[in-house]
Amino acid sequence: MNDKVRVRFAPSPTGPLHIGGLRTALFNFLFAKKHNGKFILRIEDTDQKRYVEGAEKYIIDALKWCHISIDEGPGVAGQKGPYRQSERKNIYKGYVDKLIEEGKAYLAFDTPEELDYHRKNHEEKGKTFIYNWHNRLKLKNSLSLTATEVETKIKEGAPYVVRFKIPDGDNLTFTDAIRGSITIDTKTLDDKVIFKSDGMPTYHLANIVDDHLMDITHVIRGEEWLPSLALHILLYQAFNWPAPTFAHLPLLLKPTGKGKLSKRDGDKLGFPVFPLEWTDPHTKDVSSGYKEEGYLPEAVINFLALLGWNPGTEQEVFSLNELIEAFDLGRVHKAGARFDPDKIKWFNQHYFQHRTDEELYHEFLPIVKEQIIRYMPEKEKLIHIIRLLKPRAAFTQDLWTMGHFFFKAPVTYDEKAVKKAWKTDTPQLIKQFKALLEKETIIKASSLKEKVQQWVQANEIGFGKLMMPLRLCLVGSLQGPDVFEIIAVLGKQETIIRLNNALKIL
Ligand code: GLU
Repeated sequence: MNDKVRVRFAPSPTGPLHIGGLRTALFNFLFAKKHNGKFILRIEDTDQKRYVEGAEKYIIDALKWCHISIDEGPGVAGQKGPYRQSERKNIYKGYVDKLIEEGKAYLAFDTPEELDYHRKNHEEKGKTFIYNWHNRLKLKNSLSLTATEVETKIKEGAPYVVRFKIPDGDNLTFTDAIRGSITIDTKTLDDKVIFKSDGMPTYHLANIVDDHLMDITHVIRGEEWLPSLALHILLYQAFNWPAPTFAHLPLLLKPTGKGKLSKRDGDKLGFPVFPLEWTDPHTKDVSSGYKEEGYLPEAVINFLALLGWNPGTEQEVFSLNELIEAFDLGRVHKAGARFDPDKIKWFNQHYFQHRTDEELYHEFLPIVKEQIIRYMPEKEKLIHIIRLLKPRAAFTQDLWTMGHFFFKAPVTYDEKAVKKAWKTDTPQLIKQFKALLEKETIIKASSLKEKVQQWVQANEIGFGKLMMPLRLCLVGSLQGPDVFEIIAVLGKQETIIRLNNALKIL
């Protein structure tokens, strides 16, 4: 591959970036970086009606959060700008005119009502209305009307659109880098509108013109654009431009494997479908985001990379640089990729382990402060607690969920745990342990453990017979890190208070 690879991510700012869109951006970025190419962000905002305030900023923020750096784009240097289609308005007209002059596109005056009538009329007969070779001469356009009629209509200010005339012919064959050779019967295609009455190009035209002018070499995008590919290829042919390589990424499926994971799934399925939290500017509805839910960008990226692509090895954990190194478009498959929310949690747990004590301290502190606790441990102690809990945690919030007992004595005891751990001879054992503890001056987890081990061995007490109820007294359940570590953190006094409490209640 040469060093001229240029790919683009071309979202429309119609709302927050869906996690699937982020995957598209990621694959483009990985491909570009792998081949020392450029990753371009182009904002496709020609559809003014669907424009949503704040969406462009959201897209840029989301990419930034994931360390997907933009080489060229709005607000970033680049020779091929502007990178917002609304700022390129004047460019498209000339290309449409050229197609019209060459007889490859035509003006269509049919009103929405008329088109609606045709549609309904066809439906009644059990047919589908397609604006194409079959009926274009029966409709109101510059192919069916005389030149004078067309002129008069324009003079009168009759609104019109420009439609691309699908060239005569039968089959069109082209290749997709992921799906291989595809053949389409062009007779089934409709003469798509490429320029609207409001003077703006439609997606199809603007997309092709810009990809050409921006020297895009590879178009990597979602499967939902595959049905447009034949039209795009025909547009390239009409302009006599070489077409880029196309690669259509597989769909992201719901966790059940059935159906596409859509934006509307929102939080309904119990997990975010957006990288960042999004507040709808009109309804003020808030949709959750991975960032705000405590996910790390490394985890999100690693997880997304494996949705539709695999390295061909058993390796699952990849840093961004490793992904760039390993990424290969040839290993992207066409079958839909199931979105597994447990897997992304698993990745988060993995990357969570790399977080520093200092980082976690600053994040955990406010969480603890929010709680009503008797005393706030010193920084050193808090870090010690964090270290004990961290191996099982995937999120900072987990530190509280899993370690609240370090800060608050249990007031109730898990019923099942009591059944399992509290036997008739347990109070006696706890009392004996208490006596042993009273004698200790400095509580260190390791030396205490050693002493207790010796004592249980000498008295032929099963270790678990003491450990389980002990944990129950201190934690309120059978969870948590090593019991001796817990005792060391709580200290002698607090441990004894908790033991006495449990003896009273249980
Ligand atoms: N604007 C289109 C979108 O929102 C771009 C599709 C493409 O990449 O060609 O997805």
